Amino acid sequence: MKPFRMLKLEQRESELPLQSDHAKTILIVDDEKSIRDVLVTFFVEQGYDVLTASDGREGIAMFESNPTDFVITDIVMPRVEGIETIRKIRKQSKTVKIIAMTGYVDSYLKEAMILGADDSINKPFNTEDLMAVVDRVTTG
Ligand SMILES: [Mg+2]
Repeated sequence: MKPFRMLKLEQRESELPLQSDHAKTILIVDDEKSIRDVLVTFFVEQGYDVLTASDGREGIAMFESNPTDFVITDIVMPRVEGIETIRKIRKQSKTVKIIAMTGYVDSYLKEAMILGADDSINKPFNTEDLMAVVDRVTTG
């Protein structure tokens, strides 16, 4: 009986750190509530712990107090826009994966990439587009 119980205990212990390794965190920054809601639903379903901010100023402050593994940020927002948000967050962390998104011209996304975004996505997007961009930043 004793070896069997020890084996069970070892199994349980090895499961615990594995689970916490997989709990990824993401900060979603967008001034449109409907976009934030879609992204929250998507990333929660993907197993992420999710934080949200409704503009760049809030996003930068939130990342400072709560650094996440990933950031997905809109570009055109009131107060502090996305380009500045990316620049500031990249300054705080070299390892955070940043995805820029916009429905506006591609030059915004090019600027975002130059200033520290790892990838970008055009609005409107569907679940498959999101999956593709998340796969690229998590594997690359
Ligand atoms: Mg916007």
